[in-house]
Amino acid sequence: MRLYNTLTKQKENFEPVQKGKVGMYTCGPTVYGYIHIGNIRTYVFADTLRRVLEDQGYEVRMIKNITDVGHLTADDIAQGDSGEDKIEKKARAEKKTPEEIVAFYETYFHETESAMNILPAHYFPRATAHVAQMIKLIQALIDRGHAYEKNGNVFLDVTSFPTYGALSGNTLDHLKVGARLEEHPDKKNPWDFALWLKAPKDHLMHWPSPWSEGYPGWHIECSAMSMEYLGDTLDIHTGGEDNIFPHHEAEIVQSEGVTEKPFVRYWLHGRHLLVDGEKMSKSKGNVYTLEDIIAKGYSPMDFRLLIIGAHYRGQMNFTWETLEQAKRNKETLFGTAKRLSARAETNDGFSGEDFLDRIRKAIQDDLNTPEALALALEFCKKINTLLDKNEPVESESLRTIFEKIFFLFGLIIEKETIPEEIEILARQREDARQKKDFAESDRLRDVLAAQGYRVEDTTIGYRLKKS
Ligand code: AMP
Ligand code: ZN
Repeated sequence: MRLYNTLTKQKENFEPVQKGKVGMYTCGPTVYGYIHIGNIRTYVFADTLRRVLEDQGYEVRMIKNITDVGHLTADDIAQGDSGEDKIEKKARAEKKTPEEIVAFYETYFHETESAMNILPAHYFPRATAHVAQMIKLIQALIDRGHAYEKNGNVFLDVTSFPTYGALSGNTLDHLKVGARLEEHPDKKNPWDFALWLKAPKDHLMHWPSPWSEGYPGWHIECSAMSMEYLGDTLDIHTGGEDNIFPHHEAEIVQSEGVTEKPFVRYWLHGRHLLVDGEKMSKSKGNVYTLEDIIAKGYSPMDFRLLIIGAHYRGQMNFTWETLEQAKRNKETLFGTAKRLSARAETNDGFSGEDFLDRIRKAIQDDLNTPEALALALEFCKKINTLLDKNEPVESESLRTIFEKIFFLFGLIIEKETIPEEIEILARQREDARQKKDFAESDRLRDVLAAQGYRVEDTTIGYRLKKS
């Protein structure tokens, strides 16, 4: 398996620390709002990676955190010490407690992941339940001269790390040029970042610590939770591209500053999703959720196929037209598998040849899902052509290949939505046709058409489709 490592900027052969086992950490959501289709893309990418590893027999342990404190509104643009806590801001706006906000959006996140058939992480640690581990790390960083306290606030001293900037390219020399930062008065260097902040009087979430009654910075949370459950060195750490800097750059120095061991072997980042060629933003009104997709008559699996159709490091532009195409691809995959399952077992003919090997080879090459999907569609085409001609196929072998493809792509066949009365009409029409009562079969075809269903006759029977 080859993976593109953001740290070395090249594709590398994947080898975990422990033979046969993989420890994987994914930055999870800050639960202050509905997760959107961009977040879903990033989680589907991590899920695909896990599936591809499991398919190769690795025992994967996956941890995905829930950020329920400390992610400040300015964290993504600067260094964690300015702005408001996103969850507290939402709680104030909605006149709710932070706990109520967290409970609501965390549930929504899990429901969305489950609808998308994302395998649940083995554990979803919450930041608020790991403050003790964070305090321990911060204290160790102070003891080792990598962090300092002032007025109850603790900052990481980035100048104490010569390697700072290795992941993102934002080395200190580079950062000095044109940096526009909102500076905290207690910081020594503009690029130092907060590990612990003293809580202002009206702050809702706060904990006692050796430095002040306060709350942790967003970055330290992921160092603490990842190492708590995966040890000092993680095999894989994933996130969206915006996480590279400052969040993951910060995680590296916080962790390595304490353990003096490499923190992560393979860093993988997914590119952001665009909507109609543009960044999603509330002001443009193009921040879509899975519910918006469902409301337009599409299913979570249509969207999963759309995500699979783009490489995780490549651009993915969400439009309703591309979703429509993804839906057709899904129907081809599901339709062919279904058609096959209606077949009696035969043990000669087309067996899938090397399709599964080729699909695996593509997907193990830094998750080349677009190529794997193209191969899967070619596989369907081949099967349909043979079935149309009533030529033999090794149905059992083909069914097994479909099972593996569906596992790798994370697809589950959705419940059949064709109503019972439509199925009855289609069967009556088929009976009439068999009896060569074409007037009756044509009449029933029109009745079905009026209800939005199309019947296609093939040599092995009829197929019912929504028109
Ligand atoms: P957040 O809750 O903002 O911390 O985001 C959760 C995850 O979603 C992070 O890994 C982000 O990198 C990722 N993410 C945010 N916006 C997008 C987007 N437009 N496309 C893909 N991933 C995104
Ligand atoms: Zn994180």
